[in-house]
Amino acid sequence: MATPRSAQPSSVAAPAGLPFDPSVRAADDVARELGVDPSVGLNEAEAARRLAADGPNQLRSRPPVPLWRKVLDQFRDPLVALLLVAVAISVTVWWVEGAEGVPVDAVVIAAIVVLNAVLGLVQESKAEGAVAALRSMTEASSTVLRDGRRVTARSTELVRGDVLMLTEGDAVGADARLLSATALRVQESSLTGESEAVLKDAAVLAAPAPLGDRFDMVYKGTAVAQGVGRAVVVATGMDTEMGAIAELLDATDEEVTPLQREISRVSKVLGLTVIGIAAVVMVLAAVVNDVRTASDLVTVLLLGVSLAVAAVPEGLPAILSVVLAVGVQSMARRNAVVKKLHSAETLGSASVIASDKTGTLTKNEMTIQRVFTASGEVTLTGVGYRPDGEARTGGDGVGQPLTDEQLVREVSMVLGGGSLANDAQLVERDGEWTVQGDPTEAAFLVAAHKLTGTVDRVAGFERRGEVPFTSERKMMSALVDPPGDGAWALVTKGAPDVLLPRCTEIQVGDRTVPLDEERRARALGDVERLSQQAYRTLGVAYRRVAEGLGAQGLEEHESDLVYLGVVGIIDPPRPEVAAAVAEARRAGIRVMMITGDHPVTATRIAGDLGIVEPGARAVSGTELDGLDAEGLRETTRTVSVYARVAPQNKLQIVDALQADGHVVAMTGDGVNDAPALKTADIGVAMGITGTEVTKESAKMILGDDNFATIVAAVRQGRIIFDNIKKFLRYLLSSNMGEVFTVLLGVVLAGVVGLEGAAGGEAVVVPLLATQILWINLVTDSGPALAMGVDPETDDVMARPPRGINDRIIDARMWTGVLTIGFVMGVATLLTIDIFLPGGLVEGTDSLTVARTAGFTTLVLAQLFNVLNSRSETTSAFHRMFTGRWLWAAIGLGLVLQIAVVQVPSSRSPSGRLASTSRTGASRSRWPRPCSGSTSSASWSGAHGIPAGWRR
Ligand code: ATP
Repeated sequence: MATPRSAQPSSVAAPAGLPFDPSVRAADDVARELGVDPSVGLNEAEAARRLAADGPNQLRSRPPVPLWRKVLDQFRDPLVALLLVAVAISVTVWWVEGAEGVPVDAVVIAAIVVLNAVLGLVQESKAEGAVAALRSMTEASSTVLRDGRRVTARSTELVRGDVLMLTEGDAVGADARLLSATALRVQESSLTGESEAVLKDAAVLAAPAPLGDRFDMVYKGTAVAQGVGRAVVVATGMDTEMGAIAELLDATDEEVTPLQREISRVSKVLGLTVIGIAAVVMVLAAVVNDVRTASDLVTVLLLGVSLAVAAVPEGLPAILSVVLAVGVQSMARRNAVVKKLHSAETLGSASVIASDKTGTLTKNEMTIQRVFTASGEVTLTGVGYRPDGEARTGGDGVGQPLTDEQLVREVSMVLGGGSLANDAQLVERDGEWTVQGDPTEAAFLVAAHKLTGTVDRVAGFERRGEVPFTSERKMMSALVDPPGDGAWALVTKGAPDVLLPRCTEIQVGDRTVPLDEERRARALGDVERLSQQAYRTLGVAYRRVAEGLGAQGLEEHESDLVYLGVVGIIDPPRPEVAAAVAEARRAGIRVMMITGDHPVTATRIAGDLGIVEPGARAVSGTELDGLDAEGLRETTRTVSVYARVAPQNKLQIVDALQADGHVVAMTGDGVNDAPALKTADIGVAMGITGTEVTKESAKMILGDDNFATIVAAVRQGRIIFDNIKKFLRYLLSSNMGEVFTVLLGVVLAGVVGLEGAAGGEAVVVPLLATQILWINLVTDSGPALAMGVDPETDDVMARPPRGINDRIIDARMWTGVLTIGFVMGVATLLTIDIFLPGGLVEGTDSLTVARTAGFTTLVLAQLFNVLNSRSETTSAFHRMFTGRWLWAAIGLGLVLQIAVVQVPSSRSPSGRLASTSRTGASRSRWPRPCSGSTSSASWSGAHGIPAGWRR
């Protein structure tokens, strides 16, 4: 379906900066105009020069937010504004009252506001840095010809004149004129709205055509659905058609995850509640204390505002982004590159992991071990790509050397045919054998070498055409021209159950005989036997065709084939997978195998890996095709192995699982897996073997293609989530401690002896404004951030996945938060009471001493609460010493607290507290050093009362 014309990009075909329309010029002409030899490509120096001149190949984004704006943003918080207003009022009162000395309260609060802003900035830049690092890790790449060699370049570094080498699954990196194309189909829906992939052709257009009809061009932002091609880049960046229709991209647009949204909501609700409580505290304090003067009013005002600022969890969203970003970075270091922060959250709730088999559960190191032909069976010794080994008769590997000539001929035709229908290369370097291309194909080259002693078994054959392998077709064919004159051959290899129905004859020695029912049944029996032993099976067949047959429409000739035989390939499971499967099952996650391989092979390997019980049922793609939605859901509830599936079956499976409420992580590597990966909650692409298109549609890329990495990422996702819960529990309960202390202190002033201890003070409050702000500064950010990177406290894989819609702060957490807050409040007030004369416990100290003691008690309680908040179920002493950052944060908090109450120089600013004397006589002066104690007892030791807190 084409998009309405208005949505079509410009039909002016000449890209900006090019004086001609490349779609109506011969390809060679275009290359010449762009100063490039299409068979060599640009040289690196020229490419660098052009990159410097034209700029990177990317759509322009909004300029980044300047530092001054970021700084200003830190002060835009209404609470900070409130605090600044309080500072202004306090300065005004100080000034009206004669501007004597330094307005200490104002200075201290202003300093705290600035410190908070700096902390905010640091957190923000840390989160931004982590997100940017991830973005660069997942940047698209393109294959280009430079200096005559194929190289992989970042797509942002493509320049005009670059020769793009396109292949199935590639994302087209720039607008380019095709130089050649073989069965090249390009998915252009992002640009034209056309959902069918368009067949491309390098032949020049007769006349300028609209974008969707320019068959000799490919465009940035589209994807190669099939085939191969080469093209010379004519436009990059904003000069491309995509650039012409793209709005400015907002690169700084930050993704807001559902969790971040929930946290913001909770912060707001809590904020309003706390502000309400602070207002009540102010009114109560004013009424109880019979406030009369402006300075008393300022004291009450500062108290309320400070309480609001300290107890409102306004920093929560910022800490959350840092924790998510840091967590995601550490996952990336372990080969699981999550593209969006959101997926890090989702990973923790994954309830199904649906994985490919080849390369993810297995090593993708293919070795042909068995060959079955009409005349018997052969075993090839040796493993890996080193072509050392020999052919022996029989199936147990210890049979006789192969001498039966008929069998030798048949086996060499199977391996020779497999080597002809083949694009892989076997390379020896310094005695090490490696493969380039598909390992399944390389296995044929290795096996043929073992049989004949040379890799050049098929030398002299010319390739005249091909029908590529796709996961849907499960076979591939090559049209070959044998040495000398004579008929050409179409050689086909593929899944035996797909190939056999296309065969009518079978090779027996030098002859071909009809493939009658008995022979067919025997051939199928061979396949079944191999599959039961976990072998991956591949059949080989051929037919003679007329010399000079055209390369187009070759599919039509893939019938009436002569069956040569079948090979059994071992692909050993990755050693770490069985343990990872067990770990996933322990964590309540179902593991499924979805593979293109034979059902019997699939079940056997799934059984070996512990995915299913041995002998469990596998369902095939064809069976899935015959099911309705209900049938699909029923099947996916019970069956965990799917074999011979086509990519569209993966989509069916994801849909059915999601309809059942599952959170699905699904892997994929081929271009046609993209829709399933997009639909899955966590689409997982393969970093090594995956195509660019799957990487683009996935939410996570596996650096090592390994299943075990997915399970490790799930664990990491759960740890991140647990850590978020930890710091929420911590921050909320600590803030509640402050609220309860002040609220109960004002309401119960008489009970705890505060009222009687008023002495010269007009306003008797349990804590002073600056003390509250100090607590907020010392105990909030550090420990909360440390909790974000805390190691696992509880065994996160010992519980079932979290429901995707479960609230992060549930009733249980609220109960805990309120209880702990209450206990902290009571403990603080009791400490004050102990020091004060009167109240529940008789004491002898001044209000200042008592308050300092209460203040320190609250700080210590909060620092202990760091350990306590690490788990909802285990005690604070469980795995107590595992978090070194936590201990660093606790240590820092302690040092700062000791400094503020003990070190003379630090006592002054924070020690000078808001309005403590009715006369205001001492308000405007820095506190004097220790000026005699009203008591011989001291909370801080024998030496006396910290002077800074004493009036
Ligand atoms: P998974 O989907 O788990 O990665 P897979 O790699 O076996 O499994 P496909 O690549 O779709 O899935 O292969 C399906 C079948 O197609 C294989 O079992 C094999 O018989 C056949 N096949 C695989 N590769 C080739 C190839 N290069 N040429 C011809 N046939 C092939």
